[in-house]
Amino acid sequence: MPDPRETLADLHGRVMDRRRFLAWSGALAGTAAYAQLRGDLAVAAPPLPGYPFTLGVASGDPAPDTVSLWTRLVPEPFAKSGGMPNKPVAVTWQVADDAGFTQNLRSGTVAAVPELAHSVHADVTGLQPGREYHYRFIAGGVESPTGHTKTAPAYGSHVDSLKFAFASCQAWEDGFYSAYRRMVRNEDLDLVIHLGDYIYEGQVSPDGGRRNVKVSGVLREETRTLESYRLRHTLYKTDPDLQEAHRRFPWAVTWDDHEVENDYAGTTGAYFKPNEGFVNRRAAAYQAYYEHMPLRLSAEPTSTELRLYRSLRYGDIAKFNVMDTRQYRDDQPCGDGEQFACPGNETATKLGAAQLGWLLGEMSGSDARWNVMAQGTMMGQLKHNEEGTYFWQDAWDGYSGERSRILSAIHQMGVSNPVSIAGDWHSTFVHDLKADYADATAPVVATEFVGTSITSNGDGLVYGPYYAPMVPFNDHIKFFDGDRRGYVLCTLDHEVWQTELRMVENVASPDAAEYTFASFVVENGQPGAQINCSPGSNPPPLGRVDCTPV
Ligand code: FE
Ligand code: CA
Repeated sequence: MPDPRETLADLHGRVMDRRRFLAWSGALAGTAAYAQLRGDLAVAAPPLPGYPFTLGVASGDPAPDTVSLWTRLVPEPFAKSGGMPNKPVAVTWQVADDAGFTQNLRSGTVAAVPELAHSVHADVTGLQPGREYHYRFIAGGVESPTGHTKTAPAYGSHVDSLKFAFASCQAWEDGFYSAYRRMVRNEDLDLVIHLGDYIYEGQVSPDGGRRNVKVSGVLREETRTLESYRLRHTLYKTDPDLQEAHRRFPWAVTWDDHEVENDYAGTTGAYFKPNEGFVNRRAAAYQAYYEHMPLRLSAEPTSTELRLYRSLRYGDIAKFNVMDTRQYRDDQPCGDGEQFACPGNETATKLGAAQLGWLLGEMSGSDARWNVMAQGTMMGQLKHNEEGTYFWQDAWDGYSGERSRILSAIHQMGVSNPVSIAGDWHSTFVHDLKADYADATAPVVATEFVGTSITSNGDGLVYGPYYAPMVPFNDHIKFFDGDRRGYVLCTLDHEVWQTELRMVENVASPDAAEYTFASFVVENGQPGAQINCSPGSNPPPLGRVDCTPV
């Protein structure tokens, strides 16, 4: 395999100009070391080799007094090191009440260092709860686009309502992000939650797949190195609609498998077992993920871990337990893909002991009306055969014992309105979650909405023909659709959780229209979604509930 750095330089016909590099070194001679750059910086930042904010800006993990801001200095997205010199650069962030940056202006300076691909993370503290803010960055005398964000309401405060969207699975080469364009144009959201497959690791075809844009060099290879993961995130972040969704709303992100490798488990790669090199590959992928996401500084990965699981609280209305169902899991105990159930399903962990303890602690201590498990893979059971012996082992069906233990603990603790939101399947499922699927009379413990993909698998029939015939084996599945792309909109108050499936007409055009394919309500104290049969809701034919007037 060629050195990816050489390939990149060749590919764009542009090798770092040595004279410019030396000029840089001179300009920064005598500046403070990296650690000191984290504090006040007296030296003026030198000019950059080009406009540095080509990947946009983002904010994330809103708390009542804190929000994390992100950008990355990338003057030339597909050049070596993004066109940046191998030196730290001072970046100033600004936050104000208004877009003109005149009201309550706050600012600070942080270092963008080459070791972290000149990414910028700033945890801005001292903010007011439940307030909108504007932010921007300044580097080399150049201002970034102005981002918009919103803090969470005060802890323990009464919050009447909350509106958020969730999304997953955005394979760049499978189509355009029409779903994000519509989300930005049509919605005013408190939060966007991304549930994984933010990037895909596989080869991008030379013609850019359904995007019909020429891609070259390292992008045509599966990601394995830090450089190639960085470049893959760069490719995705060059999309204007994805940038705009980040600029407009605060996000909370978690990952699934493709941020590293399809169906990997913990430190075990999917395809070569044991795979000594996988640990390093995973570390590279985790670092690149951190470098491109609006995460807290505390998420900066060590050589062995990126601590991603955390909770976000929105007053008394909702708590989001953002989970990590990849990093600590056991290898799929009964094999990969579709397999017959085996005893390992009962004992394997998907969360790891520490995260499992954390989750149950967050649940037991919560005074929120809605308690959300925001996580990568589908929790509800999907029997693939009538006997109920054959399952997709990568989802929670491969870890069914732990699923039962979580759901029965939640039930016994009397947690208020538990709801799982998930991605991964490129399909929509609405589930009754039960601690014991073997018992038809077991109570419904929680509700699950599995959202479809933003783009992955593209337009046309995808999974409907394969999975729809299995739905009759699974009485707890309230709704299934396998053939549409979009995002999921959730509007909460203290009595009702409303879910709307926002689907786009296609992903062949970035400007495709959206429509509400179906909507659901969950009533306070009554686990399990009900399809909304009100006039105009257009209940589709695959819903289990018949909305035909009697
Ligand atoms: Fe996916
Ligand atoms: Ca996945």
